[in-house]
Amino acid sequence: MTSAPSPAAAAAQPGETFDAIVVGAGFAGLYMLHRLRALGLRTRVFEAGSGPGGTWYWNRYPGARCDVPSMEYSYQFSDELQQEWNWSERYATQPEILRYVHHVADRFDLWPDIQFDTRVTAAHFDEARGRWIVRLDTGTEITARFCVMATGCLSSANIPDIPGREDFRGPTYHTGHWPHEGVDFTGQRVGIIGTGSSALQSIPLIAAQAAHLTVFQRTPTYAVPARNAPLDPADVARIKAHYPEIRARNWQEPFGVDFHQRSESAHAVSAEEREREFEKRWQEGTLGFLAAFSDLLIDPQANDYAAEFIRRKIRSIVKDPATAGKLLPKQVVGCKRLCLDTQYYETFNRPNVTLVDVSETPIACITPDGLKVGDTGYTFDRLVFATGFDAMTGALDKIDIRGRGGLALKEKWRAGPRTYLGLATAGFPNLFTVSGPGSPSVLSNMLPTIEQHVNWIADCIGYLETHRQRLIEARTEAEDAWVDHVNEVAGMTLYPRCNSWYLGANIPGKPRIFMPYIGVPPYVEKCRQVAANGYEGFALSA
Ligand code: NAP
Repeated sequence: MTSAPSPAAAAAQPGETFDAIVVGAGFAGLYMLHRLRALGLRTRVFEAGSGPGGTWYWNRYPGARCDVPSMEYSYQFSDELQQEWNWSERYATQPEILRYVHHVADRFDLWPDIQFDTRVTAAHFDEARGRWIVRLDTGTEITARFCVMATGCLSSANIPDIPGREDFRGPTYHTGHWPHEGVDFTGQRVGIIGTGSSALQSIPLIAAQAAHLTVFQRTPTYAVPARNAPLDPADVARIKAHYPEIRARNWQEPFGVDFHQRSESAHAVSAEEREREFEKRWQEGTLGFLAAFSDLLIDPQANDYAAEFIRRKIRSIVKDPATAGKLLPKQVVGCKRLCLDTQYYETFNRPNVTLVDVSETPIACITPDGLKVGDTGYTFDRLVFATGFDAMTGALDKIDIRGRGGLALKEKWRAGPRTYLGLATAGFPNLFTVSGPGSPSVLSNMLPTIEQHVNWIADCIGYLETHRQRLIEARTEAEDAWVDHVNEVAGMTLYPRCNSWYLGANIPGKPRIFMPYIGVPPYVEKCRQVAANGYEGFALSA
């Protein structure tokens, strides 16, 4: 039993000093607060939302749920926590994950150090004092020795700049900023732009409610059925009895989650064996479909075996051949994120759903009662943007972050983000990023890798305290070598082959650079070595 939650923090006062400030109260910010408080640091978390949860606070669209198994998408720092919490479904819904977030905030009494409804607008490093001057949207300025950006990888919504956007008469929504009270689409004609993960989850539910749904698709998406179901209590008991071994095994997996990675090449087995393996994974319903063979994300021919398997499935599910044809993805499978779906392709068999391909002729403009593709007009009452995010750098770009010599982070990253381990960037002492570009982040089971980052940062700050060091800063040469390594690893794979948000390709004008680091185990080992060698690649000063 947890007691009633404590009240959230009162507003920070002008000039108030903290040992550390944390930006964002998602999974990263909450655990960072817990760790920093345990070190005895006076810490304040600032959160733009009115509650904790980050991604799970904002993304309340119909069907929002995690596509990593709930039993693995949960904190592991407290065995009591992981034993006492009971997930109800294989893949948890957004409301259930948000309940878990509240439970964590209650259990570890995090509320008194979180200030909600407050955006950090600027953070400037004061070289003379060796402190960060942090400005809030309330106008208040405070200072802190350490600044941790727990701002999330997918938190800055992208609404494409389509002409006439302001002219639409009806309500518009972005999946990442969904109204808390929900939306009733009954009897409504609805248009939705986008067919990524958020669209895939919401389209079947919107279609079931709306009078008509028109889906505007630029790039068809590969999806594998989620086969979500209530968790079997016997399975839960078994996992809970073996949590430490399961978690330890996951740290050896390429994505930090047990996808039963097979070690053979797709070329090493017969066509029948390949088919059997793909079918088995299709029936299991996991993102581990892409772990069926060792080279699916490396070898184009191997990848095409998997792609063609899914395309055949789409043709067999969707009854109208013309619609099925439009839904067939052509790109490499996995270079845009593979999705898990529940009745996504089936939804296009409904008489009230229309699919419009905008790949050749883009959306020309939004009109007061719909939108136009070329000269063809489509009318609807409500418009949903399922158009994704300015990923990995978007939330940081919104804050005026300035390091040594007044250098703006945005300026430093003009040609693409540069970090050492995705944790720090040269010229910005005592500033840390959780799941920053250059770390596995979005190519991993986010919750464990968030914990790994937070643990590394907290241990690092603890080290500075015990060794009486005031500042830590990434060295440029270590950063350069790391950036080269991140690119080199990505270049050995098929990931950079399509216009994905991993590359920043979804945002006009954003530099194209592959942002996440591929490979959890070597990354974790590198972080461990860096710390064990007295923070190799960083400059420490007293
Ligand atoms: P997304 O994957 O970036 O999808 C955005 C969609 O909008 C794409 O289909 C994109 O087409 C389309 N789009 C953007 N601008 C457009 C324009 N001007 N005209 C037509 N179409 C346009 O975004 P998301 O679905 O929100 O997902 C983002 C990430 O969040 C996912 O990849 C995943 O990592 C995470 N996520 C996870 C879950 C889960 O755990 N189940 C659920 C939701 C999201 P193009 O592909 O052609 O650019």
